[in-house]
Amino acid sequence: MTDVKHWQNFIAGEWVDGKEYIDVYDPATGDVFASMSAADAADIDRAVQAARACVASGEMTDCRPAQRAEMLYRIAGEIRTLAEEGAPLLVQESGKSLDDAMGEFTTAARYFEYYAGMADKIEGRSIPLGNDYVDFTYYEPMGVSAQIVPWNFPVDICARSLAPALAAGNAVVVKTPENTPLAMLLLAKACQNAGLADGALSIINGYGHSTGAQLVAHPGVDQIVFTGSVATGQAILRSVADRALPCVMELGGKSAAVVFNDADMDQLLSSVKWGIFFNAGQVCSAMSRMLVQRDIYDQVVAAVKDLAEGLHMGPGMENADLTPLASADQQRRVASLVNKAKEEGARLVTGGSAASRAGYFFEATVFADVTPDMSIFRDEVFGPVLAITPFDTEEEAWALANGTEFGLVAGVFAHDLTRAMRASRKLQAGQVFVNEWYAGGIETPFGGIKLSGYGREKGQEALYSYVHTKNVAIRVT
Ligand code: NAD
Repeated sequence: MTDVKHWQNFIAGEWVDGKEYIDVYDPATGDVFASMSAADAADIDRAVQAARACVASGEMTDCRPAQRAEMLYRIAGEIRTLAEEGAPLLVQESGKSLDDAMGEFTTAARYFEYYAGMADKIEGRSIPLGNDYVDFTYYEPMGVSAQIVPWNFPVDICARSLAPALAAGNAVVVKTPENTPLAMLLLAKACQNAGLADGALSIINGYGHSTGAQLVAHPGVDQIVFTGSVATGQAILRSVADRALPCVMELGGKSAAVVFNDADMDQLLSSVKWGIFFNAGQVCSAMSRMLVQRDIYDQVVAAVKDLAEGLHMGPGMENADLTPLASADQQRRVASLVNKAKEEGARLVTGGSAASRAGYFFEATVFADVTPDMSIFRDEVFGPVLAITPFDTEEEAWALANGTEFGLVAGVFAHDLTRAMRASRKLQAGQVFVNEWYAGGIETPFGGIKLSGYGREKGQEALYSYVHTKNVAIRVT
């Protein structure tokens, strides 16, 4: 790395320039403050070949797993040390709050600690076949894992896939998102400082349609881990179909909170604040829809309006409640979906426009009386926009909640836990939150069903996305 203005790719233990540079913008001002080198086909090939060589050398797998665990613990320590430098950088490139940026580094360190604790516990099974046989399973690493990261939580999401992949003994090539690549590159620095083998990790930059597509198409890749939009995930799946590559797909969402008339209002409003306005709503598992039982509907709409209008809008460095969107493109996209909602007859309760100030800010926006035929009910906005719909019966609530193509998360707010337990069965999603949106942690499995994708990240479950099961059956008599 030469300086903080101009950033390089990290390939097989070296920091290298590309031939092309991409500007990095500060979303709070709209100004360019850095540039990053984009990796071309030759750079990608070098990164993948180095990863292949690392796999072939056995450097990650010949050691005792406890040694890999020690390496991951060291990486976690380095990440914690780099957080002071990395968090303000992450604020500057993403617009998010400083607290959130610090949280990303802390979470990244926790992923490495968590999977360090599992590196020496990836145990196979012994399967009884009678006395004539001994049968057992190995879990073997996939080999070269290519990982594509989105811009909303770049440090957190990078570590989420990288830590279990390394814990299981894979080599990894990561592509950064084009508008928030910088803080993520510090994870390479942490791995380098900790002494990770050259080739076990490369982090390369560039546009998705060029660098990303070329990485995915490289014949030396054994597995794809993709976090991003449905359209890109589908394009990647099509492009790797001929090679039948194993993929983890963490895609979008349009998740609903189902609010019953016995819900605790303080818990609900705190969850709304975090659920849809945190990181300006640019969260795949955001509470972008709310379904409210009719007898408390007007009361909830009024309380959510007050909450949204009370949020302080400002730059991430001030830890404002409502920070800017990550890019001018994202601001245009949110505005267009909000205008469509207005045209289709959703009732605008508050907000509804880009803020009249420099940077990519958008007002906290709430629509009420949203019906399933409206696009705002179905389409992911990825902005601070909440769509509220009334319901009468439980059955109607489940049908509305499940009535999109997505199935990432869902939530239920109810004092009656019997009803909440019924909800946990009825809601079609990879995870269900009860009385707290985002309840869970790095320890709990995360992922989607339907168009939200497949495979699980986080928790013990994620580790098994990074290994093959091999069965060995031996005739012993
Ligand atoms: P995106 O699909 O545009 O980009 C994601 C990444 O894919 C970027 O690094 C991009 O450069 C790369 N990419 C783009 N085209 C590619 C191609 N053809 N081949 C290979 N790589 C390519 O998504 P985004 O706008 O960065 O992120 C927002 C989306 O991500 C939302 O839909 C959101 O819900 C989803 N997301 C999901 C999760 C999750 O865990 N489920 C987490 C965060 C974001």
